[in-house]
Amino acid sequence: MKIIQLPVPQEVRDILVKNGYDTLYPPQEEAVGAGVLDGKNMVLASPTASGKTLVAELCILKNVLEKDGKALYLTPLRALASEKFEELRKYRDIEKKDGERVRIAISTGDFDSSDPWLAKADIIVTTNEKCDSLLRHKAHWVSHISIVVADEIHLLNEQERGPTLEVVLTRLRQINPQIQLLALSATIRNAEEIAQWIGAVPITTDWRPVPLKEGVFCLGEIQFKDGSARLIAATVGNPILDISMDVLRAGGQVLIFTETRKAAVEMGKKASNALRGVTGKPEQRSLDLIAQRILSSGERTRLSEALTQQVKFGGAFHHAGLANVHRRIVEDAFRDGKIKILAATPTLAAGVNLPARTVIISSYERYEPGYGRYPISVLEYKQFSGRAGRPKYDKFGEAVLLARTVDEQDELMQKYVLANPERLWSKLAVERVLRPHVLSTIAASFAYTEAGLYDFFSKTFYAHQYGFRPMRSKIGQILAFLCKEEMVKVDGDNVYATEFGKRVSELYIDPVSAVVIRDGLYNRAAKISELTFLHLISHTPDISPKLYPRRKEADKLSLLAQEHRDEFMFKVPDEWVESVEYEEFLAELKCAKVLQDWINEATEDNILEAHGAEPGDLFRLIDMADWLLYACHELGKLFGHKDLLSRLAETRIRVENGVKAELVPLVRLQGVGRVRARSLYNVGLKEIKDLKKASVTELMSVPLIGPAVAKKIKEQVGGKISTEEWEKLKKEKDSEKEQKLLADY
Ligand code: ADP
Repeated sequence: MKIIQLPVPQEVRDILVKNGYDTLYPPQEEAVGAGVLDGKNMVLASPTASGKTLVAELCILKNVLEKDGKALYLTPLRALASEKFEELRKYRDIEKKDGERVRIAISTGDFDSSDPWLAKADIIVTTNEKCDSLLRHKAHWVSHISIVVADEIHLLNEQERGPTLEVVLTRLRQINPQIQLLALSATIRNAEEIAQWIGAVPITTDWRPVPLKEGVFCLGEIQFKDGSARLIAATVGNPILDISMDVLRAGGQVLIFTETRKAAVEMGKKASNALRGVTGKPEQRSLDLIAQRILSSGERTRLSEALTQQVKFGGAFHHAGLANVHRRIVEDAFRDGKIKILAATPTLAAGVNLPARTVIISSYERYEPGYGRYPISVLEYKQFSGRAGRPKYDKFGEAVLLARTVDEQDELMQKYVLANPERLWSKLAVERVLRPHVLSTIAASFAYTEAGLYDFFSKTFYAHQYGFRPMRSKIGQILAFLCKEEMVKVDGDNVYATEFGKRVSELYIDPVSAVVIRDGLYNRAAKISELTFLHLISHTPDISPKLYPRRKEADKLSLLAQEHRDEFMFKVPDEWVESVEYEEFLAELKCAKVLQDWINEATEDNILEAHGAEPGDLFRLIDMADWLLYACHELGKLFGHKDLLSRLAETRIRVENGVKAELVPLVRLQGVGRVRARSLYNVGLKEIKDLKKASVTELMSVPLIGPAVAKKIKEQVGGKISTEEWEKLKKEKDSEKEQKLLADY
């Protein structure tokens, strides 16, 4: 079907044609033929890049423009939400029936808000978790939603985030049973089962815009599924790099999936070494500029330096431990074809859209402490291989597994290349996972009685797959716990949340964490210090996984515990009598110590080295600690601990920014992070009043303060500068930068 024949408003067709769309892709045609534009619920399971987003866009715009509807686009990750938001913005100039233009909004931040401004938006892009939080805040505009797109519905299978998705969808359907649901997914085995759950038409296709060749490499040759084979010359002496260089010579790019972050960094380095001397002059110049950009943005760490070194030669790594700004630079440079070989951890396969001609899966095994090595699922393999082939650039994509023996090659061919992905299974009925959802079902008025509560959970995907019975007793136990801790009250048949219960649900924390915080604040400690608060939050189950100390470190932590024994809000377990609890305590203390080092301005590198932690561990810990300190502050308010509030607030700002207390006023300014704040402080610009007095020239003489930041600081603290002075200074700084860049060549 031609785009111009589509039964959607003319303006939508015009925009699509203007953007180069002409004919529907086969999966799109099938979806339209099956009635998705007539409002039918649908599960569309189709490979990556087969055009599922366009189907979603058509449904959304038809709904908004023809039925005055309101659309919600759910994604699993913030980065994906931004991607979809950008794609949808092409429709923002279309006029609606009421004369207003289509309003598209993105909401992924602050989990303690109902975002009332979203009432005015026609299309809202958000993450599953943020949507859950909006529902907990009873955002009134949610009842106006008429269409929901659930992207990457195969997430239902994931232990941590799958349950939130199924609860959110169950809630949205309860609010408006007439809502249109469009679930998008990679190819999955049980699309029909999911479709049955939400009363939808299932459509499953294997169609790809760029054909995919899947194969297994062994002893110098890739054997493909279609029977063809390709010899790979051993130019580097490492099979992964030999294949990569072969692809490069044919004009392609390579994405290598590694098992761990460390392996990604090492593989990036090897790739970069292999690429030395291969790059032409103009390419080299742009790679140098990219390297420069990495160095001049974000904190300089051993990791960012390693990345810079690799990028100079056209290799790179990508994992969750990289600072966001560096990750984005790498993604853009790979998309632009500047970076030729990228080694990434599996998080990339689940996240941003970053295809390459060839995908190499360097290891089909994973390691989990206490469990050992196990092979990845077919679903995961399909997610990796789905990244192969760049639409418009590659005639085909290749996904390659590696085998050491012919035997293993046959096994991998059967087990992955020729296999069907597994069924998706709900992971909702785990007590820890279920607990917050039971509380929020009551607190956000999705159930008013115990029967209503059971009724709600009997509509989840879990109940659809396994029946409700296995869940019932768990929900009963959770309800008893919530009553005991006074988050929920039962009155005859009725159940309702107390103020405490409501706030815990809104704060988006585990009810068990809330009990820990409430009791800790009540107990107090003989002496309250920064360690007191940092240990309190580390004692909650929301800080998970904990950081377990190595043996030598355990001794140091024991000493620390002794020195500060009157600063804990809970009794320290006895090392000999309660050895299991003591071990747990040391892991909590390690988290607290890492955070303490962070707020005392230890460098990222020093923290990681001293504690044997990975960069991603540190960022995750900071994020969780930031949120839990906010929750402590809010619960402190609720329980009348006025005397602790300002210290809690200050600790939170310190954790958020990684600074000592003396820098708190400075990091409150936009554009001033911990490194710049320290620079300012060290030259005597310690307080806002000092900044007010300082001239722009003075500010710009401080290391790391450029003209833009200097101007921004002045604008915030008061004291405007004249346009002439600004222009003059900017010119000076630009020419300075240019001189420096030229000197680097
Ligand atoms: P999916 O959501 O299935 O992963 P996307 O919707 O992101 O796939 O589509 C992949 C690419 O194909 C996008 O760049 C999109 O613009 C393009 N595309 C989608 N449908 C068509 C079409 N009918 N004609 C041409 N290009 C299309």
